[in-house]
Amino acid sequence: FNEQELCEIKSEFSAFEYPTPTGQPLIYLDNAATALKPRAVVDAVTQVLTQKTANIHRSVHFLGDRATECYESARTTVSYFLNCDEHEVVFLKNTTEALNLVANAFASKGKILTSMAEHHSNYLVWPERQTIRLSLNQHGQVDLSQLDEVLTAENIELISLAHVSNVTGNEIPIEEVCKVAHRHGVKVLVDAAQSAPHQSLDVETLGCDFLVFSGHKLGSPTGVGVLFGKHQLLEEMDYWLKGGATVESVSLSSHKPKNAPWRFEAGTPAIESVAGLDSALTYLMELDMDRVHDHQLALGQHARNALKEYLPQAILLGEPSSYSGPLSFYVPGVSPHLLARGVSDRYSICIRSGYHCAQPLHDTINAPASLRLSHWVYNSEQDIETAIKRIAAFSNIVS
Ligand code: PMP
Repeated sequence: FNEQELCEIKSEFSAFEYPTPTGQPLIYLDNAATALKPRAVVDAVTQVLTQKTANIHRSVHFLGDRATECYESARTTVSYFLNCDEHEVVFLKNTTEALNLVANAFASKGKILTSMAEHHSNYLVWPERQTIRLSLNQHGQVDLSQLDEVLTAENIELISLAHVSNVTGNEIPIEEVCKVAHRHGVKVLVDAAQSAPHQSLDVETLGCDFLVFSGHKLGSPTGVGVLFGKHQLLEEMDYWLKGGATVESVSLSSHKPKNAPWRFEAGTPAIESVAGLDSALTYLMELDMDRVHDHQLALGQHARNALKEYLPQAILLGEPSSYSGPLSFYVPGVSPHLLARGVSDRYSICIRSGYHCAQPLHDTINAPASLRLSHWVYNSEQDIETAIKRIAAFSNIVS
């Protein structure tokens, strides 16, 4: 985006208008954790809370109609966003819940193939005895050279991989993984928590069987995430949360479950968050996801160059062959928490420190806890340069 466009984008996010504790302008570079919300999302949520408050799929009054229409039209928007059928979109709480749902459904089937680079949510859900994890190469990337061999040797049922690492920003060639997997009759689940906010995702082109992401990382309120699943697979899948909204009818001796996707959406869902997700996706599609992706790639490159220039002692985690996400690094001898706290307290710069819920990845590449810079649509090259210069200045003070 050019300067003028960035200004316009930034003006859509009211978080930038509120005073910060230091009085300096907010620099928000913690987008991989969660993103700020555009006005359109705030308005959509307010509208539900003021004009469309009712439960969905049950009340036959006009407010019930509005709420149901609002909820189901969000499903249509997600189906455009992913290029899938509406019946293949399940609304859940977040990526973590979506991964747990699929893991639970596959618990009694064959083995799961995943990697050492996964977020804890795509790590802990798979039982150790059932799981094989691809190792990482010397660049901290998932070593896909073993894929065909492992699929030939082992009885794998499902591959579950992050599209883009939430630590190194490395992007996996999911299309190729799906082609190899399908040759072996294996299904593929894509953890798109870090790719959905940054690039256009077409599940038909990717060829995946499942894909999951969280709304809050792309501008919606918290409390809503998406599971895409091929319809036939969803229909065959067991649902684990039982109760209201999951059944067509209940008799004294049995019950008839609803079809997918509704039987997976137990109880009253986060209706206003789903409306917010609808708005967030519409906002992003209007910005144009290909342009969002170009912006992301340009900022990523700029961040790498700025790090070399202003903080040459920093050590980057991983060397992504295909870079499309956050970047993480550490300054030897300086606590990342101290740095993150310091740039927040002194300059109102928000970045994340720690293991980013990916401790096995840090351990595998022998890296200590790190600092993570993650940018999104409203960030500029200037934001990144300022943040890195401030981190450099602060690490000189404390080291
Ligand atoms: N997978 C990846 C790759 C992530 O980055 C995250 C969030 N950091 C998650 C899963 C979990 O997302 P949530 O906390 O929204 O469930």
